[in-house]
Amino acid sequence: MCKCQKVNLYEVEYKMDGMTVVPTHKNCGFALDGKQADKFQKELVKSWGFEEEED
Ligand SMILES: [Zn+2]
Repeated sequence: MCKCQKVNLYEVEYKMDGMTVVPTHKNCGFALDGKQADKFQKELVKSWGFEEEED
């Protein structure tokens, strides 16, 4: 797991692991933990100009 204090959105790479997409930190090569991954998924969606739907 990535233990970096600060991870920039642009340092995150999405790798395929079987049927799962795993957000990986390029700088250290480790997968982000669930909390970080969730945060970056939201930022990524925002960067695409979509608002996340709440349900
Ligand atoms: Zn890292």
